[in-house]
Amino acid sequence: MQRFSALALLKRGLTGQRGWREQWRRAEPQAGYDVVIVGGGGHGLGTAYYLAREHRVGRVAVLEKGWIGGGNTGRNTTIIRSNYLYAESAALYDHALKLWEGLSGALNYNVMFSPRGVLMLAHTVHDVQSGKRHVHANRASGVDNEWLTPQEARAYCPPLNIDDIRYPVLGAALQRRGGTARHDAVAWGYARAADALGVDIIENCEVTGIRRDAAGAVEALETTRGLVRARRVGVAAAGHTSVIMAMAGVRLPLESYPLQALVSEPVKPVFPCVVMSNTIHAYISQSDKGELVIGAGTDAYTSYTQRGALHISGHALEAICELFPLFRRMRMLRNWGGIVDVTPDRSPIIAKTPVPGLYVNCGWGTGGFKATPGSAHVFAWTIAHDEPHPINAPFTIERFRDGELIDEAAAAAVAH
Ligand SMILES: Cc1cc2nc3c(=O)[nH]c(=O)nc-3n(C[C@H](O)[C@H](O)[C@H](O)COP(=O)(O)OP(=O)(O)OC[C@H]3O[C@@H](n4cnc5c(N)ncnc54)[C@H](O)[C@@H]3O)c2cc1C
Repeated sequence: MQRFSALALLKRGLTGQRGWREQWRRAEPQAGYDVVIVGGGGHGLGTAYYLAREHRVGRVAVLEKGWIGGGNTGRNTTIIRSNYLYAESAALYDHALKLWEGLSGALNYNVMFSPRGVLMLAHTVHDVQSGKRHVHANRASGVDNEWLTPQEARAYCPPLNIDDIRYPVLGAALQRRGGTARHDAVAWGYARAADALGVDIIENCEVTGIRRDAAGAVEALETTRGLVRARRVGVAAAGHTSVIMAMAGVRLPLESYPLQALVSEPVKPVFPCVVMSNTIHAYISQSDKGELVIGAGTDAYTSYTQRGALHISGHALEAICELFPLFRRMRMLRNWGGIVDVTPDRSPIIAKTPVPGLYVNCGWGTGGFKATPGSAHVFAWTIAHDEPHPINAPFTIERFRDGELIDEAAAAAVAH
């Protein structure tokens, strides 16, 4: 793998940027692999990387129907945090956060992880109680989270309006280790590192069927580029998971919704952290290019259209203008949507399935980007060992049958 270093950058800079090679090969599908991952988002690419790197699985392919990172990985607002309520969730997301902290070095690729702090606002007495409950629960499980008064919240984020607004700011939870990362770089960094370990990354290759042998186990995938044999298949296809799992006759408790985001025209650095408001459902940060990155809520109905309803983004902008009046005259440059896969308890599934050789990583809903390295890491373990890693052991499909829910829905209302 060509390595990035200050010396390499200087050398290429002085020689007209000649000599850089492609970041990953344009691989052709082979007849068979030890493991095939369906979905070239961050979770799928990361899983392939950890399979090759930590479990020494020899022949691994990632099949992506479009281009890598073209799904939710490239469409999200990149909020990273680990201050979830339940111990199972905090362990999973904090595993990810610890990996984020060293990811650029591990991949030799700058994923621009920026731990600038995530502030979660409380607007009602219930919000305050719920926010403080999170703070205490997190601290009991060793995850940083602290409670701020409205004045302390404004000191941390000076553009925040705490005076005389429709939804008063009564306090805020702050996770200082939380922040953002560059979404595309995460897909590209994992792709490049996986490719260097021999993983075939095959774009424009849609999986259209899953073949099972007489015993019911997975034996091959039908794709738009031919049949690909594999005895172990990991599906990490976000909003399209139900469609793919139905090919193997597996029904999951998932619903797919459009979720939208917007960016403004770029301005000079003005916004120092990430701010989320679950109650009025808007969240905002500033990208390194200077654009305000704003997230809205999901549509109220299921759909695969990859664009959301206009009134949803309008509602988010009304909230942003009230919380941050200095942004009232900003222009929005563009908006877009992604299809998110939502479980009844708003927690993911990272598990074996009833079909031998078929594994699934899904249900991340509105908040799976932050989990990317941790989720990929434990999913690779699950596929390599044919049993869950202790961190993802609670995130089974069977919990919906057995009532062992990890109810981050009631706890968080939204999970970005
Ligand atoms: C607008 C928006 C804002 C968000 N904001 C945040 C946030 O701030 N923080 C956060 O943590 N999370 C956020 N999320 C959620 C987050 O983006 C996702 O949970 C996460 O990126 C999912 O990653 P993934 O790799 O599983 O899926 P994806 O990146 O969607 O990758 C799945 C891939 O599977 C491919 N695929 C589908 N069907 C097939 C097939 N038949 N054959 C082959 N390939 C197939 C798709 O083309 C896609 O590339 C947001 C999502 C959206 C849409």
